Amino acid sequence: MKSSRGQARHPRGLDPLATDSLRPCNICTRTTALVDHLRESWQGTYLGITEFVSHPLGVSLLQLTAVRVHAVAVPVHIPTRISTRVLSAREYLVIEIEADDLVGIGYSYIGTRGAAALAEAVREILSPIVLASDPTDILGVYDRLYQETLLTGRRGMMIRALSAIDIALWDLAGKRRNAPLAELLGGCIRAVPAYASGGYYRGDESAAAQIVAEEIEENRRQGFRDHKIKVGGLSIAGDADRVAAGIAAIGPEGRLALDANNAYPNAHEALRAIRAFERAAGDHGLWWMEEPLSPDDIAGHAELARAVETPIATGEIAQTRYEFRALIETKAADILQPDAGVLGGISEWIRVARTAESFQIPVAPHWHANLHVHLAAASPNALTVEHFDLSKDIYNFEELVTPDSRLIASEGKVICPDRPGLGIEIDHDALSRFAITR
Ligand SMILES: [Mg+2]
Repeated sequence: MKSSRGQARHPRGLDPLATDSLRPCNICTRTTALVDHLRESWQGTYLGITEFVSHPLGVSLLQLTAVRVHAVAVPVHIPTRISTRVLSAREYLVIEIEADDLVGIGYSYIGTRGAAALAEAVREILSPIVLASDPTDILGVYDRLYQETLLTGRRGMMIRALSAIDIALWDLAGKRRNAPLAELLGGCIRAVPAYASGGYYRGDESAAAQIVAEEIEENRRQGFRDHKIKVGGLSIAGDADRVAAGIAAIGPEGRLALDANNAYPNAHEALRAIRAFERAAGDHGLWWMEEPLSPDDIAGHAELARAVETPIATGEIAQTRYEFRALIETKAADILQPDAGVLGGISEWIRVARTAESFQIPVAPHWHANLHVHLAAASPNALTVEHFDLSKDIYNFEELVTPDSRLIASEGKVICPDRPGLGIEIDHDALSRFAITR
């Protein structure tokens, strides 16, 4: 209900802007009494039904009603390994934040173990803070969670939990505005370049090169021009044979990136490996060399970046803007690979991508193509998105997503969905089926 001047007017004749209608909130010290009053009495009449509207006093009118936390383990059916570990299942933390009749979805990959423990930490430590917060204050929520967990957080699993919460709040923001996340972040709905990731260690070791070639041929049949394979899991010579087979299979136009998953013990050993792989690639060259060393060996990455022609990429395990600042300051990476599910969510990802842009550093987000497609669509310095076809049984998060809302790849690109928020819908039957129970 509005007055003839377009001014809000309470049906009972109260003035919503009158300061005497306000009192401090006992949860957040903000003036929410008015909000409660509005919600109970004229929500839907004065402000519209579900559309998000900021109150003129800056107080959110959306009430958080629940934070639901799920720990799931989705099995990897084909025996699979990378240079540093065997993969039998992927564990994920899935968080649903409910506000009025909308649900924001956030998630993080937790590795091969630990999602149940982290879910418990979220319920005990983080959820009460989120529930007492204004859901529109996404950066403020992150700051409060970060500060409240300063002694036990700052990095590691706790930041992965903060990431999932931040992602859920952004998804909620998109749903409230009925806008895709990409648009919310200044991008547009478009197809984003992607590469076919894979080349894990599977099958008979003596046929390793042939297995790489066959996988790349399948990637090409699916329309991908660019590819990535693992290295570091065999001898340098054995991996060089796989690199040569990959280069032969990609054709003249394609590019091949290598991913060592922190395999090499020091820069000297990594340098030997990279030079061997460069020789195996010949004139074709390599797209990038990823995570040759421990993420803690920033100086080693910088040494490699100075020494070799192949661009050095890293950052998938790095967390918060501070670790990326260190990588940038030391020139340790030619390509940064932030993962919004790891480093602190979408808010922190955007900070990192924008900072990288200021230093002419491209970003190639790690994992979660269904999320990063939006962020890449809103980032001019995004190089490409990492895509795993679900049939590869590697990135299996999409087992938890309804088939209709899974990411679509076509002709070497992924299609940014035009649905509100992230555009994914959780399959609750799958969530129950893969739930970790103790
Ligand atoms: Mg990687």
